[in-house]
Amino acid sequence: MVAGVLVELSHKNVDRVFLYHVPEELQSSIQIGIRVLVPFGKMELEGFVLEVHEKQEDSMELKDILSIVDQTIVLNQELLQLGKWLQNETLGTLISCYQVMLPKALKAKHGNSVSIRFDTFYRLNSIEIPPLKGSQKQIVDLLFEKGVVSKKELTDISSSSLKTLLSKNYLIEEKKEHYRLFYQNTSFVKKKLTPMQEEVVQTVTQKGEGTYLLYGVTGSGKTEVYMEMIDFYLKQGKSSIVLVPEISLTPQMVQRFRERFGDSVAALHSALSDGEKYDEWRRIYRGEAKIVIGARSAIFAPFEKIGIIIIDEEHSDSYKQSDPSPRYHARDVAFKRGEFHHCPVVLGSATPSLESMARAQKGVYHLLQLPERVNGKGLPKVSIVDMNDAMKKVRGHFSKLLEEEIGKRLERKEQVILLLNRRGYSSFVSCKNCGFTFKCPNCDITLTYHKSSNTLRCHYCGYGEKVYTKCPECGEESLQNLGVGTQKIEEELQKLFSQARILRMDYDTTSRKGMHEEMIASFKRCEYDILLGTQMVAKGLDFSQVTLVGVINADTSLNIPDFRSSENTYSLLSQVAGRSGRAEKEGMVILQTFNPDHYAISLVKNQDYLAFYQQEMNIRRRLKYPPYYYLCMIRMSGKDASYVFDEALKIKRSLERNLSNVEILGPCSSNLFRVNNIFRYQIILKYKTDSELRKVFAKILEHYQANSKLKVDIDFNPSQML
Ligand code: ADP
Ligand code: ZN
Repeated sequence: MVAGVLVELSHKNVDRVFLYHVPEELQSSIQIGIRVLVPFGKMELEGFVLEVHEKQEDSMELKDILSIVDQTIVLNQELLQLGKWLQNETLGTLISCYQVMLPKALKAKHGNSVSIRFDTFYRLNSIEIPPLKGSQKQIVDLLFEKGVVSKKELTDISSSSLKTLLSKNYLIEEKKEHYRLFYQNTSFVKKKLTPMQEEVVQTVTQKGEGTYLLYGVTGSGKTEVYMEMIDFYLKQGKSSIVLVPEISLTPQMVQRFRERFGDSVAALHSALSDGEKYDEWRRIYRGEAKIVIGARSAIFAPFEKIGIIIIDEEHSDSYKQSDPSPRYHARDVAFKRGEFHHCPVVLGSATPSLESMARAQKGVYHLLQLPERVNGKGLPKVSIVDMNDAMKKVRGHFSKLLEEEIGKRLERKEQVILLLNRRGYSSFVSCKNCGFTFKCPNCDITLTYHKSSNTLRCHYCGYGEKVYTKCPECGEESLQNLGVGTQKIEEELQKLFSQARILRMDYDTTSRKGMHEEMIASFKRCEYDILLGTQMVAKGLDFSQVTLVGVINADTSLNIPDFRSSENTYSLLSQVAGRSGRAEKEGMVILQTFNPDHYAISLVKNQDYLAFYQQEMNIRRRLKYPPYYYLCMIRMSGKDASYVFDEALKIKRSLERNLSNVEILGPCSSNLFRVNNIFRYQIILKYKTDSELRKVFAKILEHYQANSKLKVDIDFNPSQML
């Protein structure tokens, strides 16, 4: 027997199947999709078995497979096929396409820090047991009554009696896998769906296979609809995948699913340890969990029969993997798996991506709408405060209106959420006298000030240095910390409202395991009046007592050099606005901005997504951006900037020769020109159809695959172009 093995070494040169001989003792366990250990040059590597052949004439010289890594296959036929498709889509290596499907604990080089643990149980052997006395009798009685009992329970009675019983062969030992997470099933009262919700559920479950865009305003009961559809397929014995952006994968969200579906739910998110993720993956693999709720990579959940795939907040850019390769979009993978399983794929959002809405408008997707909130109240009232005027009257970051309204909420014992929009924004140190700013010596990036360690850090390469008091350029003691952080806002807020109980939620305060969960729970119990935070507070949270949402600085995310910055700003502001007035009481929203007339901000006032969509579509058409054109970015990087640039020019010329109907822009230096002393150039392509593109790219990649001075990366539909 001969097996074709793809080894776990992500390099284009070795990204193919190598043949190995299967020794006698392994023949019964070798299957396609199982992992094995093989000799490779001077190394021993893990790899996936992708082919199994009869012994061939010339297979004498082949080396032996050393051992198998897992007891069972880790990738089934569907996923093996999906990996090949993904490779072709993204032009990444095949091995990276398989690795991205598996939990970290199943990756080579990860070491064996994650092991499967077992719990021991006992039951009675079916042989005659004579009458016993004392603790021996107690043990046997318990086993008789309960059938299977854990070792711990029995040793609590008497460990010496247990030993005696075992030595007489009265008991049989059983091992069961021990999962690190433990779920308590809770009681649950089903909500009666509104007629509109009911209609959405009916449409999807009756029509079945296909793509649906569920455009429903915040608080319109989308999550409730998802759960109803999942329940429908669960009753048919089918599984479901629910993707949510990492940031809204809050304990609250998971809790809602657990309340309804108990331990059929597996949750995959970054707060889990590698071991916990591995356990959740195994529960899915074995079919013990039928519903997975997770971030991007949960789209690869190894279910055998999928009933429905749901992508909530489908506009979120967290569904696109930018780095490392494979640079895939979870939405595309969802369509592919949907085809395989003949199941519906539902994209949900209050602010759909332009791409998806455009397809729905053209009838490529079924458009479903939930235009009203479940509570029957309108969307919250939005006031826009022009900070150009406000700053003349007040110092600090709070306009009079926002201050007054917070005050009213405190009096009425209602709750407030405040968002500090910090995307692409950070606190940096500069000199008041000469304008000097601290930059990273390896990257072209301003260093960020970290108060807790009193250091300046580079977010790209990790470089750090101590903060000086004197400017290294002019020698004056005039360094100032620019840019506001949540901490600074918290101090200001506490000065304005000394009685207020403020909860600050950002990456600093939630880094400890379980903190996020604890904070949300305590805010829900109304132990705090104000929740202040970054993007984390914008999405997915459902608090009934929140009647005011304030955005300190609505426009910072507008300043990012990206064609999607308006879209991202509009959707962030609508999302956070949607946290207000979700229950009986009316909600209010205050947006503070320096650009009150910018359409991405002014249109939030009436939460008029369709008006925003129209206006933004016009701009995209004029500038030839998605969804009118596809984009693709080629990045060339290396240590020698002029060499990289010269090769980039050659690549451009070759593209011009080989492609027609494609607009080729560049090469130009990337926004982040230097990262860790590697220089980066990019070429952007705009095109309508990509029939020849992948072939041409594949040639270019092949040409450079052994070149150590130049790395070429390709990103289709890039979500960011830094
Ligand atoms: P969305 O996901 O669209 O923001 P949710 O599903 O979170 O909306 O619903 C908003 C709130 O309304 C939640 O507290 C939810 O429990 C409640 N809700 C949703 N549907 C119903 C219903 N049919 N009856 C009663 N309450 C509902
Ligand atoms: Zn750096």
